[in-house]
Amino acid sequence: MTAATATPVMKQHLIDPEICIRCNTCEETCPIDAITHDANNYVVDPEICNSCMACVPPCPTGAIDNWLQVLTSEAYSKDEQFSWDVLPEAKELPAELIDTDVAAETETGRAPVSGEDDTESLEGVPSTEAGARIPPWSAVHPYVNLYTHKNVATATVVGNYRVTDEDTESDIHHIVLDFGTLPFPVLEGQSIAIFPPGTDANGRAYHARQYSIASPRDGERPKYNNLSITVKRVTTDYDGNPVNGVCSNYLCDLQKNDTVKVIGPFGNTFLMPNLAHANIIMICTGTGSAPMRAMTERCRRLTKNREYNGKLMLFFGARTERELPYFGPLMNLPKDFIDINLALSRAPEQPKRYVQDLIRERAADVLNLLDDAETYIYVCGLKGMEVGVIEALQEVVSSGGKHWPDVHAQLKAQGRLHFETY
Ligand code: NAP
Repeated sequence: MTAATATPVMKQHLIDPEICIRCNTCEETCPIDAITHDANNYVVDPEICNSCMACVPPCPTGAIDNWLQVLTSEAYSKDEQFSWDVLPEAKELPAELIDTDVAAETETGRAPVSGEDDTESLEGVPSTEAGARIPPWSAVHPYVNLYTHKNVATATVVGNYRVTDEDTESDIHHIVLDFGTLPFPVLEGQSIAIFPPGTDANGRAYHARQYSIASPRDGERPKYNNLSITVKRVTTDYDGNPVNGVCSNYLCDLQKNDTVKVIGPFGNTFLMPNLAHANIIMICTGTGSAPMRAMTERCRRLTKNREYNGKLMLFFGARTERELPYFGPLMNLPKDFIDINLALSRAPEQPKRYVQDLIRERAADVLNLLDDAETYIYVCGLKGMEVGVIEALQEVVSSGGKHWPDVHAQLKAQGRLHFETY
């Protein structure tokens, strides 16, 4: 029996087309393939969805977290959802059929599970879900969705610099956006989305593309209302065929004083602890370094004022040193401030190394940090690294005589292990 045929009234899971940035995270996360998309919308199949909630925490915008009480016989089909530009209004249901619990949830447009609500247990979470659904307990409460498709912010480009060597294949840019007098409060680990100009092959305006913020909460330039992002110019598809990434090329070619259309900020779990003595283990590849730069710079500024004295450990994977974004500034950071481990996969005359190899090599130090209840782990970058990193952490923990499933469950339940991979 499917969810759609079980009872006369159902809580239908829907995705808000106005907020969704079409990042595909929900479709990738859904363990039972209930989510699909066309050129217009991402939708949830009411015949398949079992409200397991696996897709809810990873959604960067919260667009996924919409629940409407409907007559089961009138559940919105996938085709109806594909055609929507906005979510439908709730319809009146016969009083005798209304499930009051569901009504209370749908009134606010969302179910009671989300990153900011730590009342849930890990029960029901698929074992493949590697990261926490809640932020560190001490994290500052973030603003999310201040600017949406209906209320787009405009930012001015105040800097656009290449942060990899000129003659390398990896053309990665550090782009600084200024919001002027428009309030745009962010935290390290959050992201924004940017609309590339123009239309796709079907004549529809391009969807916004999501980028992690690479600067700390007080601005790329301290006390300025600006932020930075890290963008790699996409010139090939996953199979290596030549293709021009629409948004990445637009962004990498921006000139000073150009303006861009921005929505966000997004993200309420991949946030850093707000404690002077918390330790942070950062694991990233390529442009996945953006949030790590934000967190590192936040800690660096705090350290200067003696407001941070935790330990920072970074595992950073790139093809070569010359293709590693921010290589120069990173290497200038004091060794007693951050423990840097570079995993180079294509360095001439060196064996291929990935971040997970270095985590294994540094097992004793990683274990020591993990013993501290105020150690938090962040993983950002290529989707493929997720499994490798989990396996490496598992080996490290097991080598210390601990039971990985218990440690893993604890890290998730305490908001101490976070993934952002694409
Ligand atoms: P890249 O240069 O293609 O790869 C970086 C390094 O990761 C290379 O050394 C690569 O080795 C290695 N690698 C490949 N597969 C791996 C695996 N399974 N486990 C561990 N390491 C692996 O990276 P990129 O093009 O910059 O891509 C970074 C990713 O971060 C993208 O998927 C991007 O969408 C994502 N991201 C970006 C942002 C942002 O704000 N810009 C934010 C979050 C995430 P090889 O030599 O084998 O290729």
